[in-house]
Amino acid sequence: MTISAPDTTTNAQNRLLPVTSTEPIERLLETASLYLHIPFCHTRCYYCDFNTYAGMLPVREPYVRALLTEIELAGKMAQLADNTLRRSRTIFFGGGTPSLLSVQQMQRLLQACSTAFAVDADAEITLEANPGTLTQEQLAGLRAAGVNRLSMGAQSFDADLLKSLGRIHTPEEITQAVTYARAAGFTSINLDFMFGLPQQTMQQWQETLRQALELRPEHFSLYSLIIEEGTPFYDWTHEGRITPGDEDLCADMYEIADELLHAAGYINYEISNWALPGHHSRHNLTYWQNLPYIGMGAGAYSYFGNRRFSNERDPLTYNKVLKTGRIPEVESEQVEREQEMSETAFLALRTALGLHLPTFEQRFSQPFAQFVGDRLQIVEEAGLLEHEDSWLRLSKRGRLLGNEVFFRLLPEA
Ligand code: SF4
Repeated sequence: MTISAPDTTTNAQNRLLPVTSTEPIERLLETASLYLHIPFCHTRCYYCDFNTYAGMLPVREPYVRALLTEIELAGKMAQLADNTLRRSRTIFFGGGTPSLLSVQQMQRLLQACSTAFAVDADAEITLEANPGTLTQEQLAGLRAAGVNRLSMGAQSFDADLLKSLGRIHTPEEITQAVTYARAAGFTSINLDFMFGLPQQTMQQWQETLRQALELRPEHFSLYSLIIEEGTPFYDWTHEGRITPGDEDLCADMYEIADELLHAAGYINYEISNWALPGHHSRHNLTYWQNLPYIGMGAGAYSYFGNRRFSNERDPLTYNKVLKTGRIPEVESEQVEREQEMSETAFLALRTALGLHLPTFEQRFSQPFAQFVGDRLQIVEEAGLLEHEDSWLRLSKRGRLLGNEVFFRLLPEA
């Protein structure tokens, strides 16, 4: 069965932001986005619970060698039935701080990806970077090596707030990094910012957004602070030393950000993400469209071949396993069809466009309405979902309730 491309002529949002690929879903399901995890940072930010380590910079080269081995093994594992290489539309270097690798190490990793996978000529290749670690020369080298998208953890334009988060960079270094990146030829830049921080006022948040908008990045990711167990912020919150922004303030901060970004021409295409037209993150859309991805590196997750699996988290153990030529997988879960259907709907409904019903039906040979049964009508009648053309999306009220809608609607959510 061939799947027609979603109708891009009748949906106003879709005209502005073609987040749905024009490729048939069968072809997309035969691709794999690649994620490479670089688990090193100069120091650990006080709120961070990512799989990343300070004080391990001397291990970078052995780690890169292990990663090269894993890329080769993954390419073989992912080959198509006729032994041809699997196509990749995006590569994402995440961390940690991938910008702590040298340009030469990045070149070797990219070369290995191109040998093990059929990487599209126009693939989106993103590098996460800490603004405090970038030089002009390095950025020019990265651009020449093929990196075409930069995603920087800026977090705030307030110097005191940056210090209180344990960030190693200053507000001036954010501006400088963007200037260097532009000079190096980067035309796709994302900046991450956080709100709901301890002591953060609405005025500081608005000032951060004002300064950020002056830089005109193509993409924004805005996250409210989540206090994760095992972080200094978790202990300090429980000791009463810090108090994160309350729910109401966070909701107001989100709303003001959406207003300012909308007025500046950005489209809120996913709950935490805004982009200028044509600059949505193709890699992140892989996740939101529930398409296959292969994560490589310590602690990386994959969703491939109806399985979800993850790698050994400790970089030293990861290196040792790869030295023996074995796959560093430690956990694996089979994803049954019904779970895949629920997750596909759940992830799509997080995006502004929502779920494209014909694509869902073509992917699973079952209409969405039949899959969820009576629940659809109940949730629609409660005003939590709305239909437009072939799309189903959360209403404004539904977006505020978020997970509750999914819980009421989806069997496995
Ligand atoms: S730079 Fe990013 S990955 Fe590293 S510790 Fe800070 S938040 Fe975590």
